[in-house]
Amino acid sequence: KTAIASQPTKPKAPAKGAVDYTKSNFPWSSQLKTTMKQVWGHQTFRPSQEAAINASLAGAELCAILPTGGGKSLIYQLPAILAEKGTTIVISPLISLMDDQVYNLKAKGISAEQINASTTQEEVRALLKRMLGNEAKKGKGKAAKHFDEDEQDPPPKLVYVTPERLDKSKTFMSTLTKMYDSGLLVRFVIDEAHCISTMGHDYRTSYQALRRLKALFPSVPILCTTATAPASVIADMLKTLALPTKTSPGEAALPNTTVLFSSPLYRPNLIYQVLPKPSAAAAQVQAIIDYIEETHKGDTGIIYCLTRADCENVVRQLSTSSVRAAVYHAQLENDEKLRVQDQWRRKKIHVVVATNASFGLGIDKPDVRFVIHHSLAKSLSNFYQESGRAGRDGLQSDCVLFSRAADVSRISTLIYESYHSGGKEKLFEMVKMCEDLRTCRKILFARSFEATHSSSSAFAAEGGDEPCQHCDNCLRDPSTYESLDISHHAYRALRILSAAGKQSATLTLPQAADLVRGLGKGGFSTQTQGSKGKGKGSVDVNEVAGGKVTLDKDTCEAMLMRLLVDGYLVETFHGSEFSLTPLRRLLSSLTSLVRFAAAYSVIAYLQVSSRASRFTRISPEDVEAEGLLVELLMDVRVSGKGKGKGTKRKATAEPKKPKAAPAKKKTKVQEIEL
Ligand code: ADP
Ligand code: MG
Ligand code: ZN
Repeated sequence: KTAIASQPTKPKAPAKGAVDYTKSNFPWSSQLKTTMKQVWGHQTFRPSQEAAINASLAGAELCAILPTGGGKSLIYQLPAILAEKGTTIVISPLISLMDDQVYNLKAKGISAEQINASTTQEEVRALLKRMLGNEAKKGKGKAAKHFDEDEQDPPPKLVYVTPERLDKSKTFMSTLTKMYDSGLLVRFVIDEAHCISTMGHDYRTSYQALRRLKALFPSVPILCTTATAPASVIADMLKTLALPTKTSPGEAALPNTTVLFSSPLYRPNLIYQVLPKPSAAAAQVQAIIDYIEETHKGDTGIIYCLTRADCENVVRQLSTSSVRAAVYHAQLENDEKLRVQDQWRRKKIHVVVATNASFGLGIDKPDVRFVIHHSLAKSLSNFYQESGRAGRDGLQSDCVLFSRAADVSRISTLIYESYHSGGKEKLFEMVKMCEDLRTCRKILFARSFEATHSSSSAFAAEGGDEPCQHCDNCLRDPSTYESLDISHHAYRALRILSAAGKQSATLTLPQAADLVRGLGKGGFSTQTQGSKGKGKGSVDVNEVAGGKVTLDKDTCEAMLMRLLVDGYLVETFHGSEFSLTPLRRLLSSLTSLVRFAAAYSVIAYLQVSSRASRFTRISPEDVEAEGLLVELLMDVRVSGKGKGKGTKRKATAEPKKPKAAPAKKKTKVQEIEL
């Protein structure tokens, strides 16, 4: 399964009736460049921009899938200001985002307005009047006279609205209808359009209001923009919006299709690294502080955490350093959110410490020099989006993720609702990327997105299968990791957990690791209620597995995670507890609800294997003889050598030395550090 193999081939000759929007010989072509230079000061178009603008001016239904920072705004803003009359309506999910855009447009002298929850009735009324422009004056009687008395500004070229406005405001909708009848609706732009699909990672119910656009305003073209969306989400999105679900590429666009644009997802200025996350919270934040102070002193950055509590802890510790930071999470008051954002934009604050979902969607801050993931992201696509907020200006920026096995079960509980509907697979894919010490990060992304990304050349366009030569894996010194045969350990662990599973043990991943390592006398809590409250169970590791697992804690946890990801173990969730409300808050604090039990296949195998029960001491040969887990290899970092240093940069890159965990005491087997 490689990026290249899954790539659909490009059509050889354009089909009949196809238009090539990538050309620069349209009647408006010279005007485009001049306007872009004059108004925006950009010298050249970014990939896909010009073609998408051509298609837009030709009136096509459009979908632009460009990476964060790829320049999606220009694609609709430029045609909007070139339109002779009328207004482009931009539907945008966040006030902060609109604010940003309108502010930037006005600064360029473009007439743009926004309507959101904090716009007053009076302002809305005046704006709606303006949007109708001269058409309103054509009205009869008093109204017309009234308008004539006003010195009215010309209609704005762009109006940003929230999806709620379309859903709830009758006056707004009736204004749109009047505009439609007078040919004043240039285009609807749906920013962050993947939010409309329930299959995406950012689904917003308010976006459902957009379903009606095509029915109400059939001749107004729609432009959807998004950063990363798998083909399934794009298809769902188009269907929901009643756009042609058949798509054609910009270089051979067919009639009655949605014209699809995408540019390379690979961003060469982002330097990816995954670092082992220290087990002690304070040690990790210290590692982050050291990293920022050494490599990004005074730079603007974002730290993403899993929970609000994590954010608060990180900020508390950061306040003891020179790094000026502020928290940002969903529960903050709106005012506070705007204040943090503003201070960050003006560099009064260096670092925003945010929960993954709450901060960053579409925020246009070009000079974010680093994005640090305090914990795993929920999926590769989340990781790509979040880390992609770095380096929008094209300058070199760092994307650092701290990975630790135990975080997997924390995320499992956070994503409980979607766990069995795709959430698990997405999370495991993320885990696999983190565990990979060899494959170029760019190629890992490419494999994931090429398989799902609808466009042919998302990554491949820039040598998709070539390693990037600057991520941690490309630069990793082979002597800093080794391949460890964990078959024997895994076998024992599975037998122990299988025995515990039969007693309905409830174990978190760290507890499971303790159990298989023979700590705590083999005891554990069980799901069943004993006479004295919580049930207790125990296994004798010698009896069931011929001994304990002799790996150090971190490696053992990593092994269990690997077994989980590979399907040898399953996570199950406690039944009753999840029925309580408020669900989300409960989930984020109760990670211990995750239970590990041996996967059915392995239990079944152990049960049918007559030989298995006879082993008292299990040797690697026995494991092999059983035909189980033969050659289960796991790459582990070797302590001492380049430990936690991330990568050695090439001479051309700035030297950067992220610090990781402080050295831990190790016994002989614990030579290995994750
Ligand atoms: P997106 O919405 O795709 O995330 P934006 O439209 O916000 O990206 O653009 C990101 C940044 O790129 C902005 O700072 C913008 O000014 C800049 N940009 C857009 N197009 C160009 C271009 N053709 N040349 C140079 N910079 C550009
Ligand atoms: Mg944008
Ligand atoms: Zn690489």
